[in-house]
Amino acid sequence: MGYESYEEAIAALSELLSDKADLGSVAAAKIKQITAELEAAAADPTKFDPVKRIETGFLHFKKEKYEKNPDLYGALAKGQSPKFLVFACSDSRVCPSHILDFQPGEAFIVRNIANMVPPYDKTKYSGVGAAIEYAVLHLKVENIVVIGHSCCGGIKGLMSIPDDGTTASDFIENWVSICAPAKTKVKSECNELSFSEQCHNCEKEAVNVSLGNLLTYPFVREAVVNKSMALKGAHYDFVNGKFDLWNLDFQISPTLATA
Ligand SMILES: [Zn+2]
Repeated sequence: MGYESYEEAIAALSELLSDKADLGSVAAAKIKQITAELEAAAADPTKFDPVKRIETGFLHFKKEKYEKNPDLYGALAKGQSPKFLVFACSDSRVCPSHILDFQPGEAFIVRNIANMVPPYDKTKYSGVGAAIEYAVLHLKVENIVVIGHSCCGGIKGLMSIPDDGTTASDFIENWVSICAPAKTKVKSECNELSFSEQCHNCEKEAVNVSLGNLLTYPFVREAVVNKSMALKGAHYDFVNGKFDLWNLDFQISPTLATA
């Protein structure tokens, strides 16, 4: 046979089928199979390929950064001494290394739902506790920064927990309830605001609750009292491209000190 073109092949098939109509169903099944094979072979090149994406990403990093900065990566191969411990949300839009241009070795980072620091608890929150302990006692970071952000789904989840405390998730609501005092404060002080404005305020108040919780870790408290470490709150607003940074002043106010 050896057809030169698709048209010739189809014409020959039509001719055969007009003679032997009973082969129609067999031909239909074979055509269906060929179509499926061709579809697979000509898969959409724009279709997302996770392995390819990871390979391309790493090759880009290696060529453009790793191989261009041998001094930095050589030093980092021997150890790290970051100045910052950063708490940030797991949200894909708020990576601290991107928004603050942290280079490798600059920031020890913990990311979780709604960038929360739970209070000291050896069994309930050992994952977060281990990260803080390592950063403070071994790496001797000089700053802990807790960064909240705009449109935080975790904070929205916290603000949406009904007053009777009923939860519908296995983990999320229980986790974000770490910052329940922030919700209580916002609900009582900003009741006239819209829900989204309340969430925005809660994003910042929750950061302050986390800063307070950091002081429940004895090694954090000691470093803060010794002034070898500072605690900072922050809020990244990706809708307006703004970044707020504040210190939490734990010093006793002069009025109280002299009272
Ligand atoms: Zn978030």
